[in-house]
Amino acid sequence: MSKIVIIGGGVSGVISAIYAKKNGNDVIILERNNDILKKLLITGSGRCNYFNDDQDVNHYHSDSMDIVKKIITKENINELLKFYDDIGIIPKIKNGYYYPYSNQAINVKDMFNAKLNSIGVKVICNYLVNDINYDGKFIINDEIICDKLIISTGSKAYPKTGSDGMGYKFLKDLGHNITKINPALTGIVSNNKYLKELTGVRCEAKVSLYENNLLLKEDSGELQLTDYGLSGICTFNISYLVNKNDNDKYVLVNFIPFIKTKEEFISYIKEKNNKNKNIYELLEGILNKKVINVILKTSNINYNSKLDELTTKQLDTLSKNVVTYRFDIIGTNSFDKAQVCTGGLILSEINYKNMMSRKINNLYITGELLDVDGDCGGYNLTFAFISGFLAGSDC
Ligand SMILES: Cc1cc2nc3c(=O)[nH]c(=O)nc-3n(C[C@H](O)[C@H](O)[C@H](O)COP(=O)(O)OP(=O)(O)OC[C@H]3O[C@@H](n4cnc5c(N)ncnc54)[C@H](O)[C@@H]3O)c2cc1C
Repeated sequence: MSKIVIIGGGVSGVISAIYAKKNGNDVIILERNNDILKKLLITGSGRCNYFNDDQDVNHYHSDSMDIVKKIITKENINELLKFYDDIGIIPKIKNGYYYPYSNQAINVKDMFNAKLNSIGVKVICNYLVNDINYDGKFIINDEIICDKLIISTGSKAYPKTGSDGMGYKFLKDLGHNITKINPALTGIVSNNKYLKELTGVRCEAKVSLYENNLLLKEDSGELQLTDYGLSGICTFNISYLVNKNDNDKYVLVNFIPFIKTKEEFISYIKEKNNKNKNIYELLEGILNKKVINVILKTSNINYNSKLDELTTKQLDTLSKNVVTYRFDIIGTNSFDKAQVCTGGLILSEINYKNMMSRKINNLYITGELLDVDGDCGGYNLTFAFISGFLAGSDC
């Protein structure tokens, strides 16, 4: 029997504790908050989207995708599903997205808690770890000594849940390397001059992130326009690339994604043409009013004009703005408003089979601290689970 300490009572820490306890160890979770699993409570807008049927590895992002592929395996996914089933969480599956049938993250938290209690994991809350030393054993805050240590302190995202990035410092002090950390799954900030007018728009759209005419990533879904820029899940899913380097980037928005090109739009609008309607009225059938106003302004077209009165150039500009409206971007929202971080501990510094550091024996690292982040849709909780289960099982 070993003494195992887990720093951080998030999902990856709690799961690693449950699996480490299964092996008969003495297991303690140290959590700085007055309770564990604070972040879990706000996942999926309080509904906890914990898994997704679509486990294409491209939903995960890392500088070491070859290693991610070795972690997100069928076998590990089956363990996750079996675990949730065993503790009694019945999934409600919507388009492949898994939520607890109750639709309540708090039920998942309570079931995790019940499991911890029933197997005798000791949870110490209101305990902030400031300092870790290693001399063959791990010494925490000069007072707790253990044989094996699992660092599960999360990233810097949403720090009011307790994850303020301290884990990166611990890892650096223990001789590890961290890639650049940036906010991800968050809004994209633009300096578009019409944002005030566009605020409040929610519409189906395709968003495409570009750098120097090179398409980096695109996604579709409900786009929300705000006073700072772009939001909504499709925006969140491309945000991890915005701060990857300092190069200028922009987002092209297709406000009617069922039409793909300028030429298709021109044919479409000509087909819908009605001599009694002006261009504003023609566009009303497909676009949000605020979007029409801005697109007509940007295209230098008077809203009273009839379609037949537009010059070829005006029609070309209009169609370009409808299917590829440009938002120059200046960054993302801050860590405070990010669901996750992109970047983290370089994966080559752990053994992907058990999450053990390759630099220090019996030191394990789990969850968002690692250089892996996922799209919206349950991927981050899936990674937290799998990394926690691999670390705990090895102890
Ligand atoms: C608003 C929001 C919605 C989300 N929705 C989803 C979703 O629906 N599906 C999904 O898959 N993912 C979602 N995520 C992401 C997901 O919640 C995280 O990726 C996951 O919880 C990370 O787990 P973790 O164990 O790595 O870290 P965390 O959950 O951040 O846990 C880290 C823990 O360590 C503690 N800690 C930190 N430092 C110390 C210290 N020095 N001493 C003691 N304790 C410490 C913290 O207090 C915290 O409890 C969402 C995130 C947010 C913010």
